[in-house]
Amino acid sequence: MKKENRSSLPTFEQSAGHYLADTQLRKNIGHATQTIRKKRDDVTGELPDWEELRESGRQIKQQVMNNLDDYLLELEESVTAAGGVVHWAADADEANQIVTQLIREKQETEVVKVKSMTTDEIRLNEALQNAGITALETDLAELIVQLAGDESSHILVPAIHKNRSEIRDLFKEKLNIEHLSDEPADLAEAARLYLRKNFLKAKIGISGGNFAVAETGTVAVVESEGNGRMCTTLPDTLITVLGIEKIIPKWCDLEVFMQLLPRSSTAERMNPYNTFWTGTTDGDSPQEFHLVLLDNGRTKVLADETGRQTLHCIRCSACLNICPVYERTGGHAYHSIYPGPIGAILTPQLRGLDDSSAASLPYASSLCGACYEVCPVKINIPEVLTHLRGNIVEHNKKNGGIRFKMDSTHVGMRLMARAFRSRKRYERLQKIGQTGQKLFEKDGMISKLPGELSKWTDFRDLKPIPKQTFREWWRDRS
Ligand code: SF4
Repeated sequence: MKKENRSSLPTFEQSAGHYLADTQLRKNIGHATQTIRKKRDDVTGELPDWEELRESGRQIKQQVMNNLDDYLLELEESVTAAGGVVHWAADADEANQIVTQLIREKQETEVVKVKSMTTDEIRLNEALQNAGITALETDLAELIVQLAGDESSHILVPAIHKNRSEIRDLFKEKLNIEHLSDEPADLAEAARLYLRKNFLKAKIGISGGNFAVAETGTVAVVESEGNGRMCTTLPDTLITVLGIEKIIPKWCDLEVFMQLLPRSSTAERMNPYNTFWTGTTDGDSPQEFHLVLLDNGRTKVLADETGRQTLHCIRCSACLNICPVYERTGGHAYHSIYPGPIGAILTPQLRGLDDSSAASLPYASSLCGACYEVCPVKINIPEVLTHLRGNIVEHNKKNGGIRFKMDSTHVGMRLMARAFRSRKRYERLQKIGQTGQKLFEKDGMISKLPGELSKWTDFRDLKPIPKQTFREWWRDRS
């Protein structure tokens, strides 16, 4: 999928059909998510206190959200005391301006960057490009996406939609390599050689962060390849862009998240590379450290009592890997940096319900609840989904005018609500349905209904209303 203009994005419903029809994509994603799901079950199952860990993670995050203002100030104080500089960004534009200005002050035109969803969210690479600055992605999967001029389709494995031979062809073309196999080791080696020379000459590194400890001012990046460590330690200046929800109160709280995150995300007991830094140290690693703390709609999410738990997310991607909807459509159908179940609740809250593409996402779910069961910090995603669906109806009632009032789904729902409010009406409708359905019933199923009702039977068969309802059966017995 090529990069798109976000001002007129299609809804999930409009996109899903297109991606569902791509059998290669479904095969790539199905294979990857099923493999990681199995591995995740094994490594979480071996911990006797996994459920207690999840509960601790939830409680720590809840405590942070209830006192976010205090923790943010504490973090600023700790980072400053350790020699770093903290910048506050209310939105994407402000964050992009801060980063661009910092790079301009150094008179640099090239930076290395390690995978950061937050910088994807604010479209930092584009903003830098407009300012004449090239940002080279150094995470292998992000590099693949960047070379292809593509968009990420998974939180953790942005190139999950591409298979090995597609990546080999891309590397051969973009990195000018004549002979290359599609063996993972050969592909990784090709990327390593390309990245190494860029690491060695880079004066500025840009990173995201998984956690920021308010007590000490420490920022943490966990990863699998070591490129993040190169990016955060080799350049003279390090700029980290962090959403304000990434705070944890104390150093010892890391113990909980350093167990929850790797097991939930990559199904590893520990990430191969865990990099922690606290401000700057004379003669060692970056001599300048800037921390950009980004709001960009997060305080609005915080103000909503039910939606607030969305900010607990540690971006492990377990909910994507288990989701039957994500598994079939892949990430691009969501038209959001954050795909899958977490994207379905985070994106509409960050972008607002006037954005029709974002507002379609809470419906991209079967509400099976699997995402809630795997979430390492126990975010009740189905609860937030239904809460947002309610908000969308209210929003449309206020702003949708006559078009919304005449919408067939809305009219159908209102009629159903009326029927369910009265036992007599409900039973009368059942009787009408029992008689009317005879025209459409075949072999004990209804496969084709007329008019607006066909929206249901176009995609699934319907069981007919039984000859005797439960209430009738009950009355007969009493
Ligand atoms: S919502 Fe939960 S499962 Fe999904 S990415 Fe966030 S922390 Fe992981």
